[in-house]
Amino acid sequence: MAVRTSASGKVLASLIPGDGIGPECVASATRIIEAAGVKIEWEHCEAGEGVFKKGIPSGVPQETIDSIGRTRLVFKGPLGTPIGYGEKSANVTLRKLFETYANIRPVRELPGIPTPYAGRNIDLVVVRENVEDLYAGIEHMQTPEVAQCLKLISRKGCEKIVRVAFELARAEGRRKVACASKSNIMKMTEGMLKRTFEAVAKEYPDIESSHVIIDNCAHQLVKKPEQFDVIVTTNMNGDIISDLTSALIGGLGFAPSANLGNEVAIFEAVHGSAPKYAGKNVINPTAVILTGVLMLRHIGQLEAAQKIEHAVLATLEEGKVKTGDVVGYDKCTSTSAYTDEIIKNLGKRSAKFQVRDYKPIRLPELPAGPGFVKARSVRIAGFDYFCQSFLLPDRLGPTVERAIEGSPVKLKMISNRGTKVYPSAGAITDCNDQYRCRLMARDPGADLSDSDIIDVLQRLGSTVRWMHLEKLQEIDGEAGFTKAQGED
Ligand code: NAP
Repeated sequence: MAVRTSASGKVLASLIPGDGIGPECVASATRIIEAAGVKIEWEHCEAGEGVFKKGIPSGVPQETIDSIGRTRLVFKGPLGTPIGYGEKSANVTLRKLFETYANIRPVRELPGIPTPYAGRNIDLVVVRENVEDLYAGIEHMQTPEVAQCLKLISRKGCEKIVRVAFELARAEGRRKVACASKSNIMKMTEGMLKRTFEAVAKEYPDIESSHVIIDNCAHQLVKKPEQFDVIVTTNMNGDIISDLTSALIGGLGFAPSANLGNEVAIFEAVHGSAPKYAGKNVINPTAVILTGVLMLRHIGQLEAAQKIEHAVLATLEEGKVKTGDVVGYDKCTSTSAYTDEIIKNLGKRSAKFQVRDYKPIRLPELPAGPGFVKARSVRIAGFDYFCQSFLLPDRLGPTVERAIEGSPVKLKMISNRGTKVYPSAGAITDCNDQYRCRLMARDPGADLSDSDIIDVLQRLGSTVRWMHLEKLQEIDGEAGFTKAQGED
């Protein structure tokens, strides 16, 4: 990412103070950044609660989008999504609008922060895919009874995030990258990350690579977190385990985060707006200060980044000032006094805690636009007919079979929430009104045309109400769809 500068040579950055505790944390961090001698020109922008309340449903006004388009660099506080305004998080909107596909969430044991893990030298980074997965938020009510959320995972998205994880490991002198996925259950989507990881890992023989199932990863993180170095994972898994990893080192008050894209980078802490602490000058700003360190490193201001990181470590080690999440909010140092102490300590170093040597991360440059993977052949072997019916499976099955008699397809099976219920194999399934009928070409090698499918819709649609169709594709001879539970 090329750094944009003002006419006077200062680094340009868009500054979004955010909601709740955001403005206090951001003010603390920007004071420290400026005191460390960084020449930076902030473009002050708005997003979040105030913007929703002005009637802008995205929570992000055009002026903010324009500013980010100019600066390509954002430092922000957390944004709240007020109940009753808008339906999308303004944070997610910002991350997605600017394709910041890599969410970097480092956690490291800090001096003087008592946790059950103190002394075990936790120092790991969660690299979370940031724009795909269930967080694309593509949701529908399939029937009044059943809601659906589409989990979209692309090969290019996987390749980008996996490469970032390996590049980050190299840039930070780390030795291991673990891919955490639920590929044992979701073979197409989560499996895409695992397969891509295994392919890309071959290009990084200097880095040890392994795979861990995400639920075991959560278990291992609580049991023996020091075994991890870099963990790469999908969006929702990463969101959850990075809150978990924050807790290992003292909580969200200490957990920084960066959203990196090839064009734009957005720096914000892991935590949210914690409204109950807003405006009280008691909140722990460390996460946002360390987020500032990540930003400075990203823009190549490595010396200033080191200086601030050393000052934070030295301040915590001295133990003269204590944050509310550590000692309780009735006896803590105020946010502003804590900030003053760090500024006083700029130039000091911790006696015991080292700061890593960092190099800038080399972000992957993959071809833009569609067509990253091109198939040699695609055949439509059938289609899944998602429908609403109040019949039980033993009546629905024959009804569907009668309606499609003489059509190019036959009924292979019916499932209810992924479990095969027709033909019955004796499963005990509490069915609801949304079924999937798997209709396969009668001729097993046939490639169904759209007019074949429309013919079936016309025959079946008047009997069993459909709301969604999914073509069953064979891509390069491989099934591009999974079986239902219990389907042979
Ligand atoms: P949250 O704001 O992160 O707060 C959850 C809890 O974490 C707080 O109650 C507090 O724990 C602790 N905490 C958070 N920040 C802290 C800090 N700087 N220092 C010390 N402790 C801190 O999560 P939430 O309550 O679920 O969400 C509140 C709002 O923030 C929601 O509107 C949500 O959508 C939004 N949010 C925004 C972002 C973002 O902008 N990136 C991220 C997450 C959530 P104790 O109660 O134990 O003291």
